[in-house]
Order: sequence, then structure tokens, then C-alpha cells
Amino acid sequence: MELWYTEKQTESFGITAKITKTYVDEQTEFQQLDMIETEQFGTMLVLDGMVMTTVKDEFVYHEMVAHPILFTHPNPEHVLVVGGGDGGVIREIMKHPKVKKAVLVDIDGKVIEYSKKYLPTIACELDNPRVEVIVNDGFMHIHDHKNTYDVIMVDSTEPVGPAANLFTRGFYQGIYEALKEDGIFVAQTDNPWFKAELIQTVNRDVKQVFPIVRVYGANIPTYPSGLWTFTIGSKKYDPLEVDTAAIPELDTKYYTPRLHKAAFILPKFVEDLVK
Ligand code: SAM
Repeated sequence: MELWYTEKQTESFGITAKITKTYVDEQTEFQQLDMIETEQFGTMLVLDGMVMTTVKDEFVYHEMVAHPILFTHPNPEHVLVVGGGDGGVIREIMKHPKVKKAVLVDIDGKVIEYSKKYLPTIACELDNPRVEVIVNDGFMHIHDHKNTYDVIMVDSTEPVGPAANLFTRGFYQGIYEALKEDGIFVAQTDNPWFKAELIQTVNRDVKQVFPIVRVYGANIPTYPSGLWTFTIGSKKYDPLEVDTAAIPELDTKYYTPRLHKAAFILPKFVEDLVK
């Protein structure tokens, strides 16, 4: 018998993959967690029925969360990741020697535990001495750490369940206060095909808090619609003013210095959402 997993992206549309093995099928304190083996994309982490990451295409998302802002801030010594329990964003952050310390705050310790076990190529830097892993609500952590971070990356689930309050104006205000005077943050902001309204709302809210706001995109085959957006809010540094000739080549598979500014050129229908 063939087993197929389907993520319903709307009530009438989904993306589906053939499953060869199920490693974990567990309701944690916060969400339904599935770790499955797929023929096409390798091991896949699914939370509450939504694909979080797969071994085959994870590099796009993780590189594109981490590198654009780390190369925008001239001295990103203290970095916070909200969510991101699979460790992929941390792995990319560790490629930056200027980072002295990266703190990861995920609400669900089970994501961290199972990622270490079943996604070792993604979770491989979670035990790096420059990394501190905290199991807590990112909203609370932000609230309790004023004027602390140079860079904050929000690698959360979609705005349902435990991540619902990570897409609010109050959260962006908290991020502003948790950042130092020249800090910068980025959040994954879903896709423009099925979540246009969310992108518009986030853009409006971030603009009310930060003087510089930029949106960029990346192509991720296992995320709804394949076209993903990220929103940056910055107090001082503009990712579009970076001298890309000075960006060193890293060991990456998607991000390059050439791509840095190109990623901010959006298709017209997406540009219209964030004007
Ligand atoms: N890249 C994925 C995506 O966009 O599909 C998201 C990665 S997944 C590792 C997101 C993580 O956010 C999960 O591990 C989840 O436990 C965590 N999370 C959700 N709400 C949170 C909160 N309020 N505070 C901290 N972490 C949270």
C-alpha cells in the first residue's frame, strides 16, 4: 500500500509527497510533530500539517534567512533566532566569524530533540559553543531582553498555534526594543499566492515600527506555492546599500553576493502588496 502525505495549502489545493517511512508521529505540548521519509525530498519535518523543512531543499530557506541580514549589519556579534528548532538557521549563522554568540529560542524542545536525531545535517551546529539553546516562548524572551541583540531572525511556524502572536505589531515593537540602536531583524512572511493579506498586514505593521523595511523572495519547492517572502525591519542599515563586492563567498548553495540585491527585485504582483 502506498502512503502519501498532503499539506492542504487551501481548502481545495495541496502539495503531496510519497512517504517511505514514518519516524515520529507525536502530539507535543504545542503542536502535532511528524518526521517522515519522502522519496523526493528526503526526511521532512512537518508541524501541525505544514512542511517545516526537508533535507533536500532546506538550504534555500536557511541561507536566505541568515545571510542577507548578516551581510547587511557590519558587526553582527549577538544574534537571536526565534523558533528555528531544527537548527538550519543556526548552521548558516555559524558560517559568520563575526558572530560571537547566537541564541536560539524555540518554544518546543521536541523539535530540537527530534531534529538532532533525524536531521543531523541541519541540526549539526546546535552544540557549537557559540550557540545557546533555550526552550521558551520567543515572545516572552523578546520582552525580557531589551537592547540586547544586533540581529534577530524570526524562523517561526505560520501564524497559527504557538506562533500566532509572532505576527503582531506588538511583537515587532518588542523586537525593536530587544535590538541595539543599529539593530536589524528578518522574519519569514509566507507566500504571496495564498497569504497576500498576511504579507500586506506584516508590511504595514513593520513599517509602523522600523524606518527601513525591505521584502525579498526565494524559491522553495516544498513550501506553499514555491515562492516565499521574507521581511526585514532595520533601524539603520539598508540591505540594498550593501557593497556586495565586499561580501566574501561562503560555502552556500543558494545565496551568493550576486544574489544579495537581486532577491529584493520582486514580481509586480508582490511589489504591489508591499508598496
Ligand atoms: N522554516 C519553517 C517554515 O516557515 O515552514 C519554520 C521552521 S520551524 C523549525 C519553526 C519553529 O518555530 C518550530 O520549531 C516551533 O516550535 C517554533 N515556534 C512556534 N511558535 C513559537 C514561539 N512562540 N516561540 C518560539 N518558537 C516558536
